[in-house]
Amino acid sequence: LASRSDGPVAVVDLGGTKFIAAVVDGGGKILSRLYCPTLSSEGPEKIIARLSESIRQAIDKSGEKVVAVSIAAAAIIDIKKGLITEAPNLPRWINVPLRDMLHEEFRMPVHLLNDASAAALGEHALGAGRGIDNLIYMTVSTGIGGSLIINGELYQGPDGSAAEIGHTIIQINGPKCACGRFGCLESLASGTAIARMARQKLPSHKSSLLYKMAGGKIKGVTAEQVTVAAKKGDRLALSIVEEAAGYLGIGLGNLVNIFNPQMIIIGGGVSENGNMLLVPARRAMKKIAFRLPARTVRIVRAGLGANAGMLGAAVYARLQGRLGK
Ligand SMILES: [Zn+2]
Repeated sequence: LASRSDGPVAVVDLGGTKFIAAVVDGGGKILSRLYCPTLSSEGPEKIIARLSESIRQAIDKSGEKVVAVSIAAAAIIDIKKGLITEAPNLPRWINVPLRDMLHEEFRMPVHLLNDASAAALGEHALGAGRGIDNLIYMTVSTGIGGSLIINGELYQGPDGSAAEIGHTIIQINGPKCACGRFGCLESLASGTAIARMARQKLPSHKSSLLYKMAGGKIKGVTAEQVTVAAKKGDRLALSIVEEAAGYLGIGLGNLVNIFNPQMIIIGGGVSENGNMLLVPARRAMKKIAFRLPARTVRIVRAGLGANAGMLGAAVYARLQGRLGK
């Protein structure tokens, strides 16, 4: 049984923009990997067909016999039923029985978990959170995902929907969020929010580097372009990152007051802003957090980058394998 749960695992990190299929061995080494566009507007059926095909290709490429399939998805997942119940960035994925569908296809144990939960497990086992038993992981990219490791264990809640930090309300009557509510942290501090702020501010900042980079196409400006411009010292871009960081800091302060974590790990594309994001975020956090937990917590960048979800999905499959699930 031990050898079975330590064998190579086929993993998928399914996001709204792209998905990655890979094979990971028992030591956390990535043996093969494929990047594919999600093409989220195609809807679940076509995407799942391409997902299965990519898993097969990743297995073939690795030359290994895998023991399980593990899917980390940017979605609200019912872990008992193996359903994707909804996914703000994957249109029409309502109560999709992804676990059973892939089990039919691959005839081996299939595990399904939230992508931020997977990333937290990855960072805890192999990344910035090694040896830290009370930590919060946040991914700040198109959306904002979150996950809790409490006393060394992933806390998913009874249904698996815990730690939707991105959808805690930071500003009543704030901007509309992808989830349909208003003023969520995600609507104020995510890559999507950063791009929206840039669109709003560019018309009155036509001498900025960011305006030049956007080539006059204000509607198409991206959070990545804001990061690049901020790194080059563009004041408009810096002010946008700082504004998002201020909101992020409020979210962090709430978490510090509730959980007294040792560490909060920030991953995702927006974390590429590094200290331009973390310094003002820490400052905003300290304004609302109590002194004792604010002194304890370390707010750091993720260590595994884009691999966290994949590696964590493999860790999860092994943990479940040991539990005989
Ligand atoms: Zn929301």
